[in-house]
Amino acid sequence: MPRNTAVRSVEAIPVSYREPTDHNRFRSVCLVKITGEDGQVGWGECCAYFTEAALAAAKIVEGMAPMVVGQSALHTEKIWHALRKHSWWYGTGAGIASIAISGIDIALWDLKGKMLGVSVLDLLGGPVRDELPAIASLHGTKARIEDMAEEIAGHTATGLHGAKVGFGKYGNAHLGFDRDRDIAFVRQVTEAMGPGKSLMIDCGVNNFWDIPTAIGRAKAFEEMGVAWLEEPLGHDDPEGYAALRAATGIRIAYGERESTPRGVKRIVDTGTVDVIGLDPGRIEGITGFVKAADICALSRRQANAHNFSTAIVGAASQALSFASPACNLLELQPVYGPAQTDLVDRPIWHRNGFVDMPQGPGLGIEVNESLVRGMAI
Ligand SMILES: [Mg+2]
Repeated sequence: MPRNTAVRSVEAIPVSYREPTDHNRFRSVCLVKITGEDGQVGWGECCAYFTEAALAAAKIVEGMAPMVVGQSALHTEKIWHALRKHSWWYGTGAGIASIAISGIDIALWDLKGKMLGVSVLDLLGGPVRDELPAIASLHGTKARIEDMAEEIAGHTATGLHGAKVGFGKYGNAHLGFDRDRDIAFVRQVTEAMGPGKSLMIDCGVNNFWDIPTAIGRAKAFEEMGVAWLEEPLGHDDPEGYAALRAATGIRIAYGERESTPRGVKRIVDTGTVDVIGLDPGRIEGITGFVKAADICALSRRQANAHNFSTAIVGAASQALSFASPACNLLELQPVYGPAQTDLVDRPIWHRNGFVDMPQGPGLGIEVNESLVRGMAI
């Protein structure tokens, strides 16, 4: 047992980086560095995406810091409840407060593991599975469907079990706007990947389908074997999703925009979601993710870590996906990106399509702090 588990300092570091998977656009998150009195360091991430949101999360983390300093880093549950209670007026299920709590909570879990010399996975109760299949997480960006099919199949040829492709993104792909083009895309990608590979379609905010459009696409995609259709009606349309559910048998995915376990319960209880996206950097950290994933498991729904920011959320997603009965695969970004690859000494990756088992202690990563300082905004 470590002698002194108290937190000495909490530092918020908003950073910005180019995201090659998203057409090289800038993305911003707020990293959180928590140092213990024993000198150990834990890292977390507030998955804010936008510069103003990363800066706002940093201010909230700084405001919450006095409630964390002096506490035992082992008391993650106690601190989580205290921060939620503290943000009762500006939080209570709202985005930025939950995103700020996420960064603090992930850093505390990492620090707790490092202080105890134990992996976060072991702290969560250990792996509930021996293997975790990985799929590629990509955006469609190219004008020619043939080129996108070739690119995606190139990634799945490395062993990845399939691909989730974002529609309605930046670039020239123009996916999610034209029925014939969408159907041609699914057909050509499926053929190029070959048998045994899954294709998931993830609609973006620019697609903005109405209910008949969603039903039409869902029926066509279901027939073509698409594994799931994500956010075809956005994140908040219970009536629309009920209509879609009644009309098709395709697996429906949404939930990544929920900020709290309570929000996840609300959508699970609608009976219209099969795969619930959960972002550790948004859903109030590792503590919040576990509670939300348990809600999914109790209702026999699949939870799916939204692993689309830096290697810190990647490491948290890796541990959580091995530890949660509701998770059965993990999305990885196969396109090289410094935030996923260079930020840490041991970025999460796969072997023959299966995600590496986390190695402790903590999140099992050492953060490249000089790179972090260079990315700071
Ligand atoms: Mg998504």
